[in-house]
Amino acid sequence: MSIVYFDICSIPVFLIILYICYARRMTKGNANRLFIAVVFVSLFSAAADLGMEAMNNAAPLTERGYVVCVVSTYIYMILRNANNVLLLLFLLALTRTTFLLRKTWKKVGFFLPYACILGMLAQNPFTGSAFTVTREAGYTRGPLMLAFYGIALIYGFVGFLYCIYCRRYLPANKWGPLLAVYVLAHLAVLIQFLRPGLLLEMFSTALGELLILLAILRPEERMDSEVGMLSWASYQSDIHSIVLSGERVQIIVIRMRNSLEIRNYLGDHSYNSFLMEVAGEIRGIPLRRGQSLEIYHERPGSIYLIAETGESGAKDDSERMLDAAREKIRNCERAGARFDPQICLIRCPEDLCSAEDIISLGHKFQKIDNRTQSVFYAGNITKSRTFAVEMHIEEILDRAVKDGNIEMYYQPIYDVRSGTFRSAEALARIVDPEYGVISPAIFIPAAETLGYIIPIGDRVLGRVFRFISEHDLDALGLAYIEVNLSVAQCMESALPDKIGALQKTYRIDPGRINLEITETTFENINEIMVENVSRLIEMGYSFALDDYGIGYSSIQRVNSIPLSLIKIDKSMLDEVSSVNGRMILEHTVHMMQSIGKRLVAEGAETGDEVDLLRGMNCDYIQGFYFSRPLPEDEFIRFLREHRIRECGTG
Ligand code: C2E
Ligand code: MG
Ligand code: MG
Repeated sequence: MSIVYFDICSIPVFLIILYICYARRMTKGNANRLFIAVVFVSLFSAAADLGMEAMNNAAPLTERGYVVCVVSTYIYMILRNANNVLLLLFLLALTRTTFLLRKTWKKVGFFLPYACILGMLAQNPFTGSAFTVTREAGYTRGPLMLAFYGIALIYGFVGFLYCIYCRRYLPANKWGPLLAVYVLAHLAVLIQFLRPGLLLEMFSTALGELLILLAILRPEERMDSEVGMLSWASYQSDIHSIVLSGERVQIIVIRMRNSLEIRNYLGDHSYNSFLMEVAGEIRGIPLRRGQSLEIYHERPGSIYLIAETGESGAKDDSERMLDAAREKIRNCERAGARFDPQICLIRCPEDLCSAEDIISLGHKFQKIDNRTQSVFYAGNITKSRTFAVEMHIEEILDRAVKDGNIEMYYQPIYDVRSGTFRSAEALARIVDPEYGVISPAIFIPAAETLGYIIPIGDRVLGRVFRFISEHDLDALGLAYIEVNLSVAQCMESALPDKIGALQKTYRIDPGRINLEITETTFENINEIMVENVSRLIEMGYSFALDDYGIGYSSIQRVNSIPLSLIKIDKSMLDEVSSVNGRMILEHTVHMMQSIGKRLVAEGAETGDEVDLLRGMNCDYIQGFYFSRPLPEDEFIRFLREHRIRECGTG
């Protein structure tokens, strides 16, 4: 007598799982689709098992009962064993390792045991060696049934071992439940083998699949439902799995240059639905047979596509996908707005084979390959020195802070009225033992985001104070040195004390230092910052506003802090070839001077530019025309030579 209650209970569990899959719209992606197939097959296996066992309990069978018992036994055997195969395929899809079965001999090896089962079932009506169904005794196992169990165990054991092996590809909170599913399923098979009347198998399968649904396939973790694409967190975790598994993929990174503007223009809701429409268009890119395409989104407007690379012709395929993606995005329009994409193709593992590098390149490709094109190839970018520096920037910063590999360069600033160099700007460089001299344009923004800016800023201040104490500035013709302060430094409550301590150590007159802050400082203005600035001003330090003209500085902002100098960004000078650009510069100089500010024009490279600035009555000029930033000793030599020349002519 079989206990059919477990089978009966398993059926509603399978139905609930299927309903949840439907309600969560878990129909995209190989893993989801395979999981739904697993549940369907399990549901029909349970129904067949129930039919077979119910008839069995009613033996001796009627004519109809006999037919039901025979048919449901065959259906059960076919589906139950198919389930083991599907579960293993699901595991491969979940860990993005389906490509392991790409070779024909591997496919044959994988499906052969199941084919043997189908073969054994096909010969069973003639031999009855697997099982027999008689009217008197109902279902009876035959000697070949052991082979069925053996094959089920092989699939189960391979799955179990693969689960253990997969702990590298899956986070612990997913890997654990997956292993539990296998343990649960095989424990039930063992119990049912020893006590055939206890129909535990389908019920334990149902519990296992519920566990997969609840603990492993969590679409809320995978999906960014607002835009209908996979989330940024999924992208990161999939890239790690891809790299670990060695899967060959093409990654297309699409960064929308104007995403923020479009979001502001459309508003959040309409912007998200616009992105959803773009994703829908991209989903329509024709793919090779069997090729999958996953679409991810990173806020505010970056889209990442991951497609498998075929065995051959990978390059042509990616070009085709790249063009198609561009075309699709270009065709999308919402209220007259269109995205302006910059696209980068990364082939993995050919171009890059570290997950961190792939993720990081997706963020930086336009910055590293600093051109205005719209398509970038990782294969070209990864050869550049800037790429190597960018990819190792944290290590470089760490070394710079620990070993003090920070050098100060000084760029003289020309005083138009006196015709001499009356000041200079201190500019930091990292001199790394491995990567050489590194520009602050690269390491300062990285130091700001990676938390190194305070130790670097402290070092810069220390070096500049020491420089001033070691040289007689008056003898060099210099009134003061300008030092750049980053926002984080301005926000540090200890800044005035740190500067006060340096002042004491090096016995420096505060008038010798002018602190440069940027517009970003104003954007982040808070109490500590206001307090810091006023304390430093009280101590005798003066402030300059750097890079005026590239952000949103208003004259009100300029007026809110007692700034002694305004430094006009090079980009304003670059615009003087146009009538408007020239007028803007001229009026800026005039306006600033009328509210009592002195002006430094940055980035003068030619004699014409210098003449123009002189004509506009600009107070100071800084630029390559006079000198590039120089290492300390060269800078001293430059000033001395200049003074000798001046005395000679004077
Ligand atoms: P900045 O403060 O605006 O410095 C001026 C930059 O313009 C320097 O770049 C200088 O080399 C460059 N420059 C000067 N004249 C010309 C010219 O005629 N043509 C061109 N093309 N460029 C010119 P650098 O040294 O690469 O510094 C870049 C930025 O890094 C600086 O811009 C500043 O924002 C930041 N920085 C440099 N040193 C420090 C530092 O010690 N602390 C902080 N917080 N930031 C720093
Ligand atoms: Mg500066
Ligand atoms: Mg500047």
